[in-house]
Amino acid sequence: MNKRIVIIGGGPGGYVAAIRAAQLGAEVHLVEADRLGGTCLNVGCIPTKSLLHTAQLYREVQKGGLIGLKADNVRVDWPVLQSRKQATVTRLVKGVESLLKANKVTVHKGQAALKDARTVIVSGETEKEVAADIIVLATGSEPVKLNFPGAELPGVIDSTAALSLPSVPTSLVIVGGGVVGIEFAALYSALGARVTVVELLPEILPPVDGEIAVKVRQELTRQGVTFLTGARLTEVRQGDGALTALVEAGGKVEEVTGEYVLVAVGRRPRTQGLGLEAVGVALDRGRITVDEHFVTTVPGIYAVGDCNGQIMLAHAASAQGIAAVEHALGHQAAYYPQTIPSCIYIQPEVAGVGLTEEEAKKQGIAYKTGLFPLSASGKAVIDGGMSGLVKVIAGEKYGEILGVHIFGPRATDLIGEAALAIRLEATVDELVTTIHGHPTISEALAEAALAVDGKAIHW
Ligand code: FAD
Repeated sequence: MNKRIVIIGGGPGGYVAAIRAAQLGAEVHLVEADRLGGTCLNVGCIPTKSLLHTAQLYREVQKGGLIGLKADNVRVDWPVLQSRKQATVTRLVKGVESLLKANKVTVHKGQAALKDARTVIVSGETEKEVAADIIVLATGSEPVKLNFPGAELPGVIDSTAALSLPSVPTSLVIVGGGVVGIEFAALYSALGARVTVVELLPEILPPVDGEIAVKVRQELTRQGVTFLTGARLTEVRQGDGALTALVEAGGKVEEVTGEYVLVAVGRRPRTQGLGLEAVGVALDRGRITVDEHFVTTVPGIYAVGDCNGQIMLAHAASAQGIAAVEHALGHQAAYYPQTIPSCIYIQPEVAGVGLTEEEAKKQGIAYKTGLFPLSASGKAVIDGGMSGLVKVIAGEKYGEILGVHIFGPRATDLIGEAALAIRLEATVDELVTTIHGHPTISEALAEAALAVDGKAIHW
């Protein structure tokens, strides 16, 4: 008899797991409390990139004279940006609905909780119980809330609210210089807002290779964003028509005004109300504990994506979802976390895969690096991405690719080649003897690999 899998959560972890399980012949039930597609499609990856797309075109067009365009009187039509964003989201959510239907996945609308290790209760319009051989938790995450005086003021918002503001703000204070904060900084500053980023750590983008993070901060500063690093938000006060954020840095308190204060200090796994403790699913600092196959502390119950807190990215959630149901259904599952790229959609783009230099150092790995500045790349000069660079980190003895970090045009697409190189355990030699098209940014990857042994041709 076919196994019955019940998946809780219809984001990229849950819906991809559902489709894979159905392909493998399981009877699949998926419970979603809100909208299919989860955070990613509805209030994360997709709407942010839709808005960023137009914001970046706007910035480009404003350079008109420099690139040989006359585009006078170009203005932002915010309601159209908003409706295009929503239309994109709706189209993709409908796509997920159709895929689930085509794969004969039964979708239950409602809030799910575990009754026991083999029964899920769904509270929707009516309450029902769904029996399961296997349960996959894919409940995602929610924004971390900071507790400071003024946190409840109306203009203090999270990333979801920041996607649907009534108009482009004149000024914005962003608390948190992580990926989400930096994408919103790039978005609203390109659209004309005065943006200040407040980051507690000495540098923005903590998981990004340090050398790249510095370059990103410098470039965004050039684009008009103000950064206060090593700085802590202590309070927000309602001023006259704007909010005043009190920021403590180096023993001094600075006042920064903004129409809104966006708190983007990270996300935490969504695990409340699922009844995990009662069935014995253990949590570690709020994250669902899983083994290498994404099995929780209760056999037959899996947890994938943001809710296990391993790495909060949509493609990681999907890869984990696939690996979990393959394992659950007795198939050989493959999951290579070292090939998970992380991408930031500012202009120029940022992308990295594998070890950063800081991680290689921390792990005591003997490594060498190759750098290629994009000021020496023909395509980057054409595209206006000259402030960027490509960095390759390779093992000292055998030259195996350990990490690749790119700050430049189309970095988020180019990183796929680097991820494949890591997956295939390719060496610097194999990367440089792969011939790259000209003129492309991908040539810079080969040049950075050549630079590992001091042999770059164009630098
Ligand atoms: P989610 O997408 O959060 O889905 C979980 C689903 O479970 C939700 O639909 C929720 O309603 C449902 N659910 C929860 N509890 C229950 C319950 N008890 N019963 C029924 N249903 C339940 N990642 C990227 O890779 N690239 C990006 O560019 C990117 N940009 C982002 C931008 C922003 C502003 C944000 C906030 C996030 C971004 N992310 C990005 C992160 C990405 O959205 C998440 O990593 C991804 O959505 C995680 O997928 P998931 O399936 O684990 O959870």
